[in-house]
Amino acid sequence: MLFTLIRIFLGVDMALGLFNYAAWTWLAGQPFNIWFLLLSLFSTHLPDADMIPYLIFRKRYRLISHWIFAHHPLLLLSLVALASFGAAKIWVPDAAGYTVGLMTTGVFLHFAHDGLHLQGFPWLSPFTFTQFRLRGGKFSAVPQRELDEWRQHVSRWKQNDPSAADEIIVRTPPITWTQLLLWSAGAIAVAFLIFERGFHNHIS
Ligand SMILES: [Zn+2]
Repeated sequence: MLFTLIRIFLGVDMALGLFNYAAWTWLAGQPFNIWFLLLSLFSTHLPDADMIPYLIFRKRYRLISHWIFAHHPLLLLSLVALASFGAAKIWVPDAAGYTVGLMTTGVFLHFAHDGLHLQGFPWLSPFTFTQFRLRGGKFSAVPQRELDEWRQHVSRWKQNDPSAADEIIVRTPPITWTQLLLWSAGAIAVAFLIFERGFHNHIS
């Protein structure tokens, strides 16, 4: 489990969270604030919260994928925009645009990462469950045959009755050099921001 935690910590979503934070904070001219950095890291992981109901109900409902309620981009992005706007208006009224931008872009980056999957991503769900992918510079629907093959492949794996830990491990691939490079670049971007802006807890 320790290896899995390290893989999550050094994962692509974590690197995207660092970049998202550095870019928005830079653009909005905000000071470094640890809570907003954590908020950005939270947003790039948020859609995977549906792993929790998936792990609880996967056997009862024979679930194949954990993309249950939080992997509907149109719904989740609108919800996150509204919720972060409401919360920002209460706690940081002068930085509402910054908060909404940071959160919604973070969630979008998570979907973009999921979209690199060979089986594509249901960008228009819940209106259509067609999965789209970018291949050779073209954005197109993944043929149903390929999706069926993938489902069969996962169903065969499920016959071995994988534990909850197995389900998590299979979704956290080994760390690659490209990933480490991406993560380091994200960390350098944040470090540069701290160096340039200094530590302030006041968000303006
Ligand atoms: Zn996801």
